[in-house]
Amino acid sequence: MNLVEIFASAQGEGPYVGTSTVFVRLGECDLRCLYCDSPGTWKPAAQWRFETSAGSGKFETFDNPASIDDVAAAVARLAFAEQRFVSVTGGEPLLQPEAVRAIAELVAPTSARFLLETHGLEVEGLEAVVDVVDVVSMDWKSPVEAAYADISKEPNFLSRHKRFLEISHASCEVYVKLVVTPETSPEEVATAAREIASVDPAIPFVLQPVSPFARVRTSPRPSELLPLLAVAQEWVEDVRLIPQTHRAYGAL
Ligand code: SF4
Repeated sequence: MNLVEIFASAQGEGPYVGTSTVFVRLGECDLRCLYCDSPGTWKPAAQWRFETSAGSGKFETFDNPASIDDVAAAVARLAFAEQRFVSVTGGEPLLQPEAVRAIAELVAPTSARFLLETHGLEVEGLEAVVDVVDVVSMDWKSPVEAAYADISKEPNFLSRHKRFLEISHASCEVYVKLVVTPETSPEEVATAAREIASVDPAIPFVLQPVSPFARVRTSPRPSELLPLLAVAQEWVEDVRLIPQTHRAYGAL
């Protein structure tokens, strides 16, 4: 598999924010979101790194490709069985569904839950792994702020997101996360909320104010965020405004 890094921290986003988590970050992504905070994952990585003890910031580096045995040895040193979650993130993990399945099978005998963080568009990849996933953390992308790296790919985000959500909801726990920028419109939030509610209005919907990074200079103001919260609540029962928290304590 193409791996970027393995480290332990607390979950910094979404409804499980603050829970102990080992992160396995896979390489490569087929989107180019304006607000991406991990552009180093867009291309397959030549090397991967492993944090030798949780929070130490000390890493050992290895060449790619990595084997599932490499991953098993690394996560075992981070006492992953004592963590509440093992999160596979990216990049876009579903570009490597065999790797996602192998890591999930590693986690299955433990009490840790297996969480998949995804851009929510790779329907075929999801179908190949959804039976081994405990929780899907699914993004809802805006075509204004995200585009496929390959411009020949159909940017039909709405129908792909809807299908992705239906498959996830039929098989496991799922929540949806929409990154809110100063440009995010009420219509965009309403469209996402309406589509989520058409699958199940009880699916949690997280509005995540963008963190300033790279090309993003400002976060939306409360006067912009709270009306969006109200719009989403017209459709979805469980809407939450949750910023990224890991940056507050300098985590990855
Ligand atoms: S999907 Fe995620 S990793 Fe890919 S470009 Fe967007 S924010 Fe970055």
